[in-house]
Amino acid sequence: MDNTIRLRFAPSPTGALHIGGIRTALYNYLLAKKYGGTFILRIEDTDQTRYVPGAEEYIMEALEWCGLTPTEGTKYGGEHGPYRQSERKHLYKQYADQMVASGNAYYAFDTQEELSEIRKALEAQKETFIYNAQTRDQMRNSLTVSEDEVQKILDSGAAYTIRLKMPDDEDVIIDDIVRGRVVFKTKELDDKVLLKADGMPTYHLANIVDDHLMEITHVIRGEEWLPSTAHHVLMYRFLGWDAPTYAHLPLILKPSGNGKLSKRDGRKFGFPVFPLSWKGATEEDSFEGFREAGYDSKALINFLAFLGWNPGTEQEIFSMDELIEAFDINRITKSGARFDLDKLKWFNQQYLHQTPLEELVEKVKPILVEKGYSPNDAFLEKFCSLYKERVSFLPDFWTQGYYFFEEVTVFDEKTIRKKWKLENRTKFETLLEVVQNVVPFSAALLEEKIKAFIADEELSFGAVLPIIRIAVSGTTKGPSVFDMLELLGKEKVVERLSRGYDLFDQLKA
Ligand code: GLU
Repeated sequence: MDNTIRLRFAPSPTGALHIGGIRTALYNYLLAKKYGGTFILRIEDTDQTRYVPGAEEYIMEALEWCGLTPTEGTKYGGEHGPYRQSERKHLYKQYADQMVASGNAYYAFDTQEELSEIRKALEAQKETFIYNAQTRDQMRNSLTVSEDEVQKILDSGAAYTIRLKMPDDEDVIIDDIVRGRVVFKTKELDDKVLLKADGMPTYHLANIVDDHLMEITHVIRGEEWLPSTAHHVLMYRFLGWDAPTYAHLPLILKPSGNGKLSKRDGRKFGFPVFPLSWKGATEEDSFEGFREAGYDSKALINFLAFLGWNPGTEQEIFSMDELIEAFDINRITKSGARFDLDKLKWFNQQYLHQTPLEELVEKVKPILVEKGYSPNDAFLEKFCSLYKERVSFLPDFWTQGYYFFEEVTVFDEKTIRKKWKLENRTKFETLLEVVQNVVPFSAALLEEKIKAFIADEELSFGAVLPIIRIAVSGTTKGPSVFDMLELLGKEKVVERLSRGYDLFDQLKA
C-alpha cells in the first residue's frame, strides 16, 4: 500500500457515538496512519428526521479525546469537502439520473400509503413485501408506465423516488478482507431507494458517491453494512467506477458473549458504552461516558484495538504509535468480540500505574477542585504516589483518599469491636504522646518511634496499627501507615487519634 490510501469514518449524527463506532474509527485511523495515508471524518446526515443537535460536536470531541483526530473533515479542512452530506445535496441526483439513463435505476411513483397497504396485506398472509425483480412489474414505476406517462408525471411535479434496478438473477461477489469471499444473490435483495421523494439521497447513494468523490480506497465499517455492500458494488459498476476495498468488522458482543452490545446495555450492566457522557432529551437517552467514569482514553483505545484484532504476540500494552506500527488489517478476526469489562479495568490500571507523577497530579487536581480543595503540587505529588499503585480509576483517588481533605465519616466498626481493648486506653494515650514528640514528622521516624512504643508496651503490630489506621482513615485498607501519617501531618493525626479513642470507647460500651 502506498501513501495515497484514504480512509473515512462516516457516522450519522443521530445521538451519542457508541463504543463500536470508536473502534471502527480506530481501525480506519490505524490503517491510514500506518501507510502515511489520510483519515477523513464525513458526517452522514441525509436522514434529517434522525438528526440530533449536538451529535456532530460529540463525535468530534470523542474522536479527539481518543487521540483519533481526523486529517480531513468539517472542522479539519481538506480538499474534498464539504464533508457534511447535507451540504453536498446538489451532487447526488445527477448520479441517480445517470443510472436511470443507463437502465440501471428507475423512477418509482408508488406513494407511501400504497406501499404500506401492500406491506400490510402481505403481512396478514405472513409474507413480507420486497420491491424487486419479482414485484416491480406490478408496481407504479417507469418500467410499468409508458414513457409519455412517465414524462407527464415528472412534469406535473409529483413526488417520485429513484430505485436501483437489481439484476434479476446474478451473484454479486465481494472479496472482503475480513470475511473473505462473500456471495449475494440479487434475487434475494431489494431495489433500494437511491433518491427520496424530498430530493435527498439515501444513505446508499450518498455513501458511494462520496466514497468515490473523496477518493476513498478502503472502507472499514461494521458488519451490519455487509448486505448493503452488494448494492454498493453494483452501483460502482453501473457508474463505471472502481469500488474501494472492503473490510467488515466483527460485532462487539455483550459481556456474557450472547448478542450484540447495545447502547442500553451500559445501564443494564452498570458500565459505560459511550466514550463521553451524553445528555439526551430524556433520562432514558442520557448516558455516562468512559471519560467521566474516570477511564484513561489511552487504556480505552488499547482495549478497543484488541476487540476484533490481535498482534499475534504476547504484548498487550500498546501506545498509539505501537498500534499503528503493529496493526495489520489481515489480522482482524471474523468472530464477534466479547466486551470484557474486567479486561478494560485491567488496561486502565496498567495505564494509571505507568502515568508519570506530574501528569497524574494534573489529572487528579480537577477531581479535588470539584470537591472544593486545591492542595499544592508538592502535597499532590505525595498523595498521588501513595495511591498510584492502589487505584484502577482516577475517581478512586478521591474515594480512597478523601480523608486527607475531609473528616473521616465511616469507621470500620467491626474491626474496632474486635481490636479495641478498653484496658489498653492508657497505653494508647502514651502513643499519643509519642506521636506528638516525633520531630521531624517523617514516615521513617514515625516508624521507628511507633515500633519502639509497641515493644515497650508489650503490644503487637496487629493490636496497634489497625487502630491507628482506622482512627485516621476509617479503614484498615490503604497505603503504608507511616507514609499516610506523614502526609496527614501531626496536627490531624493527633486530633484524629484522640477523637478516635473516644469513639472506640463508645463503640465498646
Ligand atoms: N453512516 C453510516 C453509519 O452510521 C456509515 C456506514 C459506512 O461506513 O458506510 O454507520
